[in-house]
Amino acid sequence: MNLTNYHSHCLFCDGRADMDEFIRFAISKGFTSYGVSSHAPLPFSTHWSMEWGQIENYLNEFNRVKQVYKSQIEFYVGLEVDYLNDLSNPSSICFQQLPLDYIIGSVHLLYNDKQDVIDIDVAPPIFADIVNQHFYGDLDKVIRMYFERQFRMLELGGFDILGHADKMHYNAMCYRPGLLEEKWYNDLVEDFFKKVANYGYIVEINTKAYNTYHTFFPNEKYFALLHELGIRVMVNSDSHYPDRINAGRLEALKCLKDCGFETVVERYDNKWKDVMISL
Ligand SMILES: [Zn+2]
Ligand SMILES: [Zn+2]
Repeated sequence: MNLTNYHSHCLFCDGRADMDEFIRFAISKGFTSYGVSSHAPLPFSTHWSMEWGQIENYLNEFNRVKQVYKSQIEFYVGLEVDYLNDLSNPSSICFQQLPLDYIIGSVHLLYNDKQDVIDIDVAPPIFADIVNQHFYGDLDKVIRMYFERQFRMLELGGFDILGHADKMHYNAMCYRPGLLEEKWYNDLVEDFFKKVANYGYIVEINTKAYNTYHTFFPNEKYFALLHELGIRVMVNSDSHYPDRINAGRLEALKCLKDCGFETVVERYDNKWKDVMISL
């Protein structure tokens, strides 16, 4: 029944419940395989990322919870690591040397021209203010910067799963309706996914915003392209609340199937496996 999720937060970052609660909820819904992926430490503090001093506790708590529920569910540990710059990204040795099962590579942050770090993973009205105040209203530039950073993350590597590939599109679309019909934008997204396919990364279909914004990340418009390029996909809810771990999962699986996918990636026996979509 494809009851899996590998993108999940908890109290070690900005999740709203502890690891134990997430896993108990997953078991109660019949999930067979689950992974926790807190926001990895950055070179500075934020309200949403883990501190380096917590990593050991995170790994210890994972091992404790895994033992408690091992007869009921396969439990894995990862981190969602930001591409910040060439010194702090998924390929950095500090992340590579951790005993993790996997890494999700994501972009949430840009630099403005004063080299201030700007979080663009925010609500649409805040994003609009950011574009106007930090980037002089130049949305095209912001979009290009976002993808340039993702291209660089692909090149540097060190991760297994590409996190919410085009997440900024929803904010950008609110700023300028019709963006997803613009040729230059679609060419950019297509080039990006071609590169993703060449490197062989797994792309997550992130369902976090499905119930509020009715879109997946990447947007469902690109599912057929992903299939055509031979990209392997998995469905993740990027859940910050235990009761949202299943949100949008069936809708995403159905949409993938409609676009030609027969399998999704799930983790069993410490390996990524292609599992038939069964609806
Ligand atoms: Zn994220
Ligand atoms: Zn996340």
